Amino acid sequence: MNFRMVPDSIQKLSLLEDATQFEPAGDQPMAETAGAQPRPPKPLPCIADVSTPSGPKPILKAMMTTACERNCFYCPFRAGRNKTQRVSYTPDEMAKTYDTIQRAGLVEGLFLSSGIIKGGAQTQDKILGTAEILRKQYGYRGYIHLKIMPGAEYDQVRRAMQLADRVSINLEGATAERLAALAPKKDYWNELFPRLQWISRLRREEALRASVVTQFVVGAVGDTDLELLHTSDHLYTQLGLRRAYFIAFNPVSQTPFEHLASVSHQRTFRLYQASFLLRDYGWSVEDLPFLSSANLPLDVDPKLAWAQENLREAPVEVNRAERSELLRVPGIGPKTADAILRERRHRHIREMGHLRALGLRDVQKAAPYMLLDGNLAQRQLSLF
Ligand code: SF4
Repeated sequence: MNFRMVPDSIQKLSLLEDATQFEPAGDQPMAETAGAQPRPPKPLPCIADVSTPSGPKPILKAMMTTACERNCFYCPFRAGRNKTQRVSYTPDEMAKTYDTIQRAGLVEGLFLSSGIIKGGAQTQDKILGTAEILRKQYGYRGYIHLKIMPGAEYDQVRRAMQLADRVSINLEGATAERLAALAPKKDYWNELFPRLQWISRLRREEALRASVVTQFVVGAVGDTDLELLHTSDHLYTQLGLRRAYFIAFNPVSQTPFEHLASVSHQRTFRLYQASFLLRDYGWSVEDLPFLSSANLPLDVDPKLAWAQENLREAPVEVNRAERSELLRVPGIGPKTADAILRERRHRHIREMGHLRALGLRDVQKAAPYMLLDGNLAQRQLSLF
């Protein structure tokens, strides 16, 4: 691409660096936030591979401005932090910049966030203005994920849902108290939570299809896994949340939290595993194997921990179990459970090889917790 076409705005994109690196935007957040894993170099640091509903895509993760009037304790863009180089775009400029690099084939989608200047509603106008220009002026039909600002108005939320494929509102804390400890100028019950309720209502009443996600900063202010998963479960079951993202706290210099310890990615990995059990496997928060600290054990998959406790003496009979019971077996996910149910209409399943053919990848993991026509599946493995 000839970057000389729009030198100033592209240069500004370079200044954004990977400003939104801690904000996963796609469907595989663990892969997106696994900072230690080497990634193939991108032409700009703010371009990231993101899993979208229509497959993985290179996405521009941009901000309208990296200036902010708020002072969230964990954030590199907080007001007064002079280590941050502030970069701002007008809607025209951002739309043109995106259009240019999209036509050059560098990106196939846009994730657009912003620091807050002159309040959430004015900032939201700039985000919406960019999306309007892209959709109307440039005729762009591709993927857009828009951030909803704290304090955005109802009509702005509606417009964002009309323009975008996905919207996000970051609760940051699992409760109002945790949010207050993380971000004293954000108001959980007035600025954030009601917007999630509006989105749920707009999806229901106006059939707007944009999905909604949220994000939690994990481990900076004593938050527990139980709190985080309890709130996530409520959002999944009551408000139709598509995904909760868990971001391991990492201290940023020149912030009030600069001396706090960073949180291990293993913790957020276990939180993702548990949240998928809540969202996709019909589990309730009470099923999860919390320690007395109200956190999950770090050294074992929560599903495996539950099976060790509950299925060793009462393995699941694959030929008679309900779907929900099959989903309790480590290694059996929704697709494999459905394949087993379909297969059972025609024949009994007696062999581990049969289960492999139905999609069970890790037979070693599943075998101790299953019966095949009354026989312990584990016995078949010992014959190999
Ligand atoms: S409002 Fe957003 S950009 Fe501003 S300090 Fe808080 S987290 Fe950072």
